[in-house]
Amino acid sequence: MSKENLFIIGGGASGFTASIFAKRKNPNLNITIFEKNKRVLKKVLATGNGRCNITNKNLSLDKYNRESEKFIKYAINSFGVSEAESFFASIGILFSEENGGKIYPMNKQASSVVDMLLAEADHLGIDIKCESEITSIKKKGSFFEIESNSEKLRADKIIISCGSKSGGGFSSGYDILKQFGHTITPLFPAVVQVKAIGTKPLTGMKFVGKAKILKSKKILEEAEGEILFTDYGLSGPTIMNLSRVISKFFAEKKNLKEEIFISLDFLTEFTEEEIYSLLLERRKILGHLNAELFLNGVINKKISFEVIKRANLKLSTPVYSLSNSDLKTVAYLLKNFEFKSEGVMPFINSQVCAGGVELSQIDPFTMESKKVNGLFVTGEILNVDGICGGYNLHWAWASGHLAGKSI
Ligand SMILES: Cc1cc2nc3c(=O)[nH]c(=O)nc-3n(C[C@H](O)[C@H](O)[C@H](O)COP(=O)(O)OP(=O)(O)OC[C@H]3O[C@@H](n4cnc5c(N)ncnc54)[C@H](O)[C@@H]3O)c2cc1C
Repeated sequence: MSKENLFIIGGGASGFTASIFAKRKNPNLNITIFEKNKRVLKKVLATGNGRCNITNKNLSLDKYNRESEKFIKYAINSFGVSEAESFFASIGILFSEENGGKIYPMNKQASSVVDMLLAEADHLGIDIKCESEITSIKKKGSFFEIESNSEKLRADKIIISCGSKSGGGFSSGYDILKQFGHTITPLFPAVVQVKAIGTKPLTGMKFVGKAKILKSKKILEEAEGEILFTDYGLSGPTIMNLSRVISKFFAEKKNLKEEIFISLDFLTEFTEEEIYSLLLERRKILGHLNAELFLNGVINKKISFEVIKRANLKLSTPVYSLSNSDLKTVAYLLKNFEFKSEGVMPFINSQVCAGGVELSQIDPFTMESKKVNGLFVTGEILNVDGICGGYNLHWAWASGHLAGKSI
């Protein structure tokens, strides 16, 4: 009896996991991974700044876009952190945990994850064809005819694991799936730096505080943690995690007059009233100084200059001459320093793509298309995206595991 062929389109995180689980379960399958690039797992190599944040101890459904929560439940429950730990241990990668539950390979080298996934695929006899871009897939009766830049082949089953164009990635998977009648929801960058007006003087400054995203004075989302100023706007993990709501706003924006602001709280441990009392006290003891030094020792000096200037005060103004109303303004600004956002940086800068294959068209218990028997879809190409911290790779492993086991 001839062996069944399984073709996996895309040699990334989810495609490799799918291939390994499919072959382990069914050694008789002939599996080939087709990869457009010269090398497979290119994006995995870049993850976690070359350290690969594989997953997160705090894995839960609410770390992903709300519309995906129901869909991903089965895949994540079947392949949680302990299953990921066992899988990676089975290929030789041990886990090590850092702040915020972030899990990395013990040697903190993404290249080891790549090496060991490749070694396991090789050991199982999975074929890998690089520089092989799949340009067309057609269903012909019970099999698929696939066309690459160099050949035409037949497969019994297909997994589309093409990823997205975030981080300089390439994905023609959307077009292939559209040809099979799948819907692609609007795509926009997420986990990305945010553009904002007026941050240039603070470029390079970092602080730990809170950021709120405001639309017409209403808070859309907020988060606390490290925030970094750049010449184009704001960055750092806290901002990257809030970027989705800003990116979505600009992707869907119809009313040109609508604006979005990022409000920063530089002193989260104090209320505005407490800061005002503190400033009254400082005016008493630092009255002989200029406003330039008024907040010195409380917040970062460069940030303090911007606060003083935004309060319409001169750095040369004597502290004793600051009015109570000036102090109230300074206290307010220390808790609510707003920057108008102009959007987010482009896809090439983003870690993940929001939007993708419409989830109602995929079976959440197998990852098989509800439109085409024998066609499976995994990873970031689906309308699933998580915040930063290992959740996006976890989705790639979990969806790959489910598709591989279901074949
Ligand atoms: C800079 C950066 C850092 C990141 N860091 C982290 C992190 O630390 N933790 C985390 O959880 N997530 C991180 N991510 C996100 C994570 O890397 C992705 O979510 C994950 O790799 C998606 O897996 P995937 O299998 O869906 O796609 P990918 O891993 O992108 O693989 C898809 C593959 O398919 C290939 N392909 C596409 N179309 C075709 C075609 N037609 N024919 C043949 N091949 C094709 C592509 O070339 C690619 O190799 C990061 C992303 C970036 C960009």
